[in-house]
Amino acid sequence: MARKTKKPRPRSCQPCTACCDGWVQITVNGYEAWPGHPCPHSTGQGCDDYDNRPEQPCRQFVCGWVIPDSPLPDWMKPNEAKVMVLFNKRQWRGLPVDVALPVGRRIPPRALNWLKQFAEQNGRPLLYTEQIPDTDGNYSREQQVVAWGPPEFQQEALQWQASGISLWSDR
Ligand code: SF4
Ligand code: SF4
Repeated sequence: MARKTKKPRPRSCQPCTACCDGWVQITVNGYEAWPGHPCPHSTGQGCDDYDNRPEQPCRQFVCGWVIPDSPLPDWMKPNEAKVMVLFNKRQWRGLPVDVALPVGRRIPPRALNWLKQFAEQNGRPLLYTEQIPDTDGNYSREQQVVAWGPPEFQQEALQWQASGISLWSDR
């Protein structure tokens, strides 16, 4: 007798708060969260005002790990793998461009290697970043962007960054 295919359970954010903690640089009710400046409601394991969280960005934002049918493996949950992936944030010559942001100074090698391989196997150019510390060595809003893909993509990504446009948010 054929077995019923089990529907995968939706992934749950808790106890991750990587987006609330500013790694993706969001504005919540006028408060700007960025690396080292988490949303004041983040407890580091959840939100202390969850029922009143605003629609934007809190209820709308989903990272690439939590989306339905995410290709990211379980171990790449942002608080564990120290990387947050945003799929399809831009287009380049008809190809979807994914963005990966570190949850910390830089993306750990295991996760970065996985992402590079995924980009190559699926023809999806990748942009990933590394935090640039301020003069005191603290986190800042500045990030070094690295483009992984064809040389022409790398050239264009340099131009995007030089032009000052945000590579992953619509702000
Ligand atoms: S980074 Fe992803 S998994 Fe973590 S809290 Fe935000 S949406 Fe959920
Ligand atoms: S209000 Fe809550 S859900 Fe929204 S960013 Fe802050 S901690 Fe996260």
